[in-house]
Amino acid sequence: MVFGFGGKKPSPVKAAPPVGAGTSSGTQAPLYGLMQDFPLTVDKILEHARVNHGFREIVTRTVEGPIIRQTYAEIYDRAKQCSSALLEDGMKMGDRIATLAWNTGRHMETWYGAMCIGGVLHTVNPRLFPEQIAWIINHAEDTHLFFDTTFLPIVEAIHSKCPTVRRYVLLTDEAHMPKETSIPNLVAYETYIAGKSRDVVWGDFDERTACGLCYTSGTTGDPKGVLYSHRSNVLHALMALQKDGLALGAGDVVLPVVPMFHANAWGITFCGPLTGASIIMPGAKMDGASIFELLDTEKVTFSAAVPTVWLMLLQHLEANSLSLPHLGRVVIGGSAVPERILRAFEENYQVEVVHAWGMTEMSPMGSLGSMTPEIVAKGRDEVVRYKLKQGRPPFGVQMKIVDDNGADVARDGKTSGHLVVRGWAVANGYFKGVGGNILDKDGFFDTGDVANICPLGFMQITDRAKDVIKSGGEWISSIDIENIAVGHPAVANAAAIGLAHPKWDERPLLIIELKPGENASREEILTFLDGKIAKWWMPDDVAFVEKIPLGATGKINKLQLRDTFKGYILPTIQAAG
Ligand code: ADP
Repeated sequence: MVFGFGGKKPSPVKAAPPVGAGTSSGTQAPLYGLMQDFPLTVDKILEHARVNHGFREIVTRTVEGPIIRQTYAEIYDRAKQCSSALLEDGMKMGDRIATLAWNTGRHMETWYGAMCIGGVLHTVNPRLFPEQIAWIINHAEDTHLFFDTTFLPIVEAIHSKCPTVRRYVLLTDEAHMPKETSIPNLVAYETYIAGKSRDVVWGDFDERTACGLCYTSGTTGDPKGVLYSHRSNVLHALMALQKDGLALGAGDVVLPVVPMFHANAWGITFCGPLTGASIIMPGAKMDGASIFELLDTEKVTFSAAVPTVWLMLLQHLEANSLSLPHLGRVVIGGSAVPERILRAFEENYQVEVVHAWGMTEMSPMGSLGSMTPEIVAKGRDEVVRYKLKQGRPPFGVQMKIVDDNGADVARDGKTSGHLVVRGWAVANGYFKGVGGNILDKDGFFDTGDVANICPLGFMQITDRAKDVIKSGGEWISSIDIENIAVGHPAVANAAAIGLAHPKWDERPLLIIELKPGENASREEILTFLDGKIAKWWMPDDVAFVEKIPLGATGKINKLQLRDTFKGYILPTIQAAG
């Protein structure tokens, strides 16, 4: 028997006072319940899948090409071998084990292999620039880096700048290893885990032990590390699975297009095994044709991705007159769902859309837009209007809107303010104390989003605090303008940014990327917006670009756009002299 770090019998949550201890009033000592201390550690999730759903499949489109089929039992066994390999390789509890990897079975094995013995699985976003990747690896002081062959050029370029990494593991077999490489201590994953013991002990440590690390993309300042605990991940998975949430079950076939490096694939790598749902891993290919192939051949019932991915799929479906007979629901989040995507899924393909909002700091689920009978009773247009909002918080997330002074604002669906949250899967602070105290006096975290909440409890994001356009002392929602603009048939993507204005402080400029082969003039775009937004929200000008820049998680890179249009003079300024 190989022992993990929890080999000795532990007293899991007794090392420190229980969470929330000391907050109750009264003079008497509490009468404790007589229930088991069953630490909330993620090893129990995969263990549950092995015992109860061991035969259920995890299907991967491998980076090498072929589609392979594994079961939860196999993933479990190989994850244990990965744990043994890491322990033999000198991994200590709390070490950060980085991955630069697509969604695959091997990534999932590494994920549980590291976490279940007290390692911290650090997903690095490969879409960042190599210098940013090196910066993050150094900040995290990763000791091991597991990566896909796709990212060999990145690792070749940065390894000399990453002194803490002792071991590089290429997520492939001997046959696909590079003939020549400058990467030191490089080993093929299959060789690394081959013949290793499956007897290693998992879990048996404090549930508050760290198990995951994910850096926010750093659209403002340096990236900041969010350090998840076993407890927060287990509670987050249970929370995300509520009926008005992901609502998965053993009969589901789940395709997480959202990458594991994007905020834990929104919890799916935990929710899948927890429920026994089958998981289809898309590997490196996320274009419309590849995603459709998996949806169709694997009879996927549930999927999750950002709007840009769904746009590619819908274009593929339309161009080839295809249908989606198996898909029941899609979760769309990461940025606001445009109406045309919502309507296309629901009205043309009979696929229910669940609009979700969240962020890395929230593990990431913050709200989900399942409908309520009151709204359904009001008819289709109201359903669409509510589905375009970001939804209601599940049990486990508390949210409220506050003004600049921190005072609560009315839940009237109109008054916007700063969206603040707290809960069992919300960050308490950033890794290594970056940014200092991030909570207010009541323990709420400021999301940086500007939003309102309506009397039915639906939250609507109107902007990110740094993207909001401030005109004449009022706020203009860039998201609203963008969502309407992308409804124009010639428009592929749209971004609204605020430009400095001598009279109004800021005025909106609408930046448009047209669909290939399509044409639309400035006047046509403005006429299209007319009547759909308030008069004073009308952009002062429309600029056309070849391509709207996207950031590492597929969202519009407004920082870059603001930089590109820094010297742009709005016609209203010229007119004002
Ligand atoms: P980053 O902050 O680095 O972009 P995240 O992926 O954590 O990384 O992004 C979280 C942010 O994404 C939220 O604060 C919000 O601004 C935006 N976001 C996420 N989901 C939605 C949504 N459904 N509608 C509008 N904005 C969203």
